[in-house]
Amino acid sequence: MFTSINPATGETVGTYHELDADGIEMALARAEAAFRAWRDSPLEKRTELLGRIADAWEANKRHLAETATKEMGKTLASAVAEVEKCIAGFRHYAKNGPGYLEPATVRTAGGGHAVARWLPMGPVLAVMPWNFPYWQVVRFLAPTIMAGNVGLLKHASNVQGCAALIQQMMSAAGAPDGLFQNLPIKSDKVSAIIADRRVVAVTLTGSEGAGAQVAQAAGRALKKVVLELGGSDPLIVMPSADIDLAAKTAVTARVQNAGQSCICAKRMIVHAEVYDAFLDRFEAGMKAVKIGDPMEGDTGMGPLSSAAQRDAVLEQVARARAEGATLRFGAEKLAREGAWMTPGVLTDMDPESDVAKEEIFGPVAAVYKVKDIDAAIALANDVPYGLGSSAWTNDDAEIERFARDIQSGMTAINSLLASTPEAPFGGVKLSGHGRELGPWGMHEFMNLKAVMFG
Ligand code: NAP
Repeated sequence: MFTSINPATGETVGTYHELDADGIEMALARAEAAFRAWRDSPLEKRTELLGRIADAWEANKRHLAETATKEMGKTLASAVAEVEKCIAGFRHYAKNGPGYLEPATVRTAGGGHAVARWLPMGPVLAVMPWNFPYWQVVRFLAPTIMAGNVGLLKHASNVQGCAALIQQMMSAAGAPDGLFQNLPIKSDKVSAIIADRRVVAVTLTGSEGAGAQVAQAAGRALKKVVLELGGSDPLIVMPSADIDLAAKTAVTARVQNAGQSCICAKRMIVHAEVYDAFLDRFEAGMKAVKIGDPMEGDTGMGPLSSAAQRDAVLEQVARARAEGATLRFGAEKLAREGAWMTPGVLTDMDPESDVAKEEIFGPVAAVYKVKDIDAAIALANDVPYGLGSSAWTNDDAEIERFARDIQSGMTAINSLLASTPEAPFGGVKLSGHGRELGPWGMHEFMNLKAVMFG
């Protein structure tokens, strides 16, 4: 059984049966059969289905959002925004998918030509985390449907209610049987599914540990894998920046989703000339965050996703202090049922200390002072991760340096970094490899076939 616990109250909000071995076998057989038909489906059939799925999500927006809030604690407003993003994701592939599948023709040396065609590959397994329980899945699911592939989902254990609803939305939209299947399974069942001949590839969003396990299983079976893993994103502030806006955005980045977003800024790296001005504003913003019932409209931050997740963050803060960092305020456990803590700010972190190299997956920021752009970039890159980053400056030469020299898959300039269906999403270093979204995400799990004409 899976049990979903509301992290705002500690109460059980749902229990779900685990799929047994026979159920997994039936699902794989159904996926294989579904692929045989779906791979040849006309593109209009795929785009129409994506449109109907978007409509089903639209019609069930409130229920979807409330379920996410109850299972993992995000504010209802942000859960609604997440559902709306999913709807936009389905519509993006409905509109642009056929264009992404256009073949390309090239001349060949002998006077002939070759046509490069995008062909589907088969059932793809997605192993997904709880932090954006819908959007992480839709980033995979919408392009999967458009590509002519079929999807299997192993969702995180604590959001099985969200996973079940994703399946329900597919049924409501009239998706063919087996085109998408939610597998309520524990992680120890994943390797065998990857090894199964009917599964052609796997994508995982989650921690490095899970990524390494899944990549090993995929490597043993010689199957393609996309990994979207953790990050310790820098937010760099230079003297020419709008300091008010930079500080305000840094607060949003650090407390949205209670700090549990892979691409939210976690390390604020500030030029010495504007350090005090930034820190004053940033601290004021972090202290002003309204913590409360995530169902209430004016709540800025709810609980973390679980007591274990909260305790892991508190343990990192304690270790950072033992390693010489100053906790300026916050990062305190609240004495009430659930997974509550306050936002906090650390300074004086030794960049070589253990915690400085880790991802802090909660509402605690580290703020660093640097003397120039070289020091800012060196510090930004001095972690094992390379997912996102943001840079605040109005100097074109500096923008070019950040775009070119920060080792990350994404750099936002003077804005909050957020994924969007049109742009590639993914990381480098221990943040993973491969890309999601846009044409790039869809092409990851397709066979680019060269059809040669002499
Ligand atoms: P997690 O523990 O790695 O879980 C992610 C998924 O992997 C869950 O479905 C989990 O199942 C499964 N899993 C765990 N261990 C596994 C194993 N050995 N074999 C197969 N599957 C396994 O990560 P999390 O704590 O839920 O999520 C937080 C992490 O995800 C953070 O590091 C965050 O930065 C990262 N993340 C990255 C992105 C990105 O796009 N790059 C986006 C969001 C989050 P169970 O729940 O059953 O354990």
